Amino acid sequence: MKKEDKFERILRDMVEKEKGYRARALKLYPHVCGSCGREFSGKNLKELTVHHKDHDHQNNPPDGSNWELLCVYCHDHEHEKHKMKGFGGASDDSFKGGGFNAFEGLDSLLPAIGKDEEKD
Ligand SMILES: [Zn+2]
Ligand SMILES: [Zn+2]
Repeated sequence: MKKEDKFERILRDMVEKEKGYRARALKLYPHVCGSCGREFSGKNLKELTVHHKDHDHQNNPPDGSNWELLCVYCHDHEHEKHKMKGFGGASDDSFKGGGFNAFEGLDSLLPAIGKDEEKD
């Protein structure tokens, strides 16, 4: 199997997963950014993203207790703050180009792909 396929599959998986908990979070919480208070609806709604309070993207309790709805800007800021505290590492700089949110947590999967590539 080609690495590209694997990568695409992982990407798709991440997107599907994020859609899943995002949909749930949007049902649980009002469509308002938890940080700046901006309201979202219709077309704007895609700018409202799900943040994991403990920064563990595997931790998705059905009651939504680990989620916070943040707009893309505040979400970015939240992660910057987190990094400042010494968590997270610098490896997700490549996600700053935009659209990082859909692939949140992907950086933790990348080392596994890297390992494969060292095989030759
Ligand atoms: Zn905001
Ligand atoms: Zn987040």
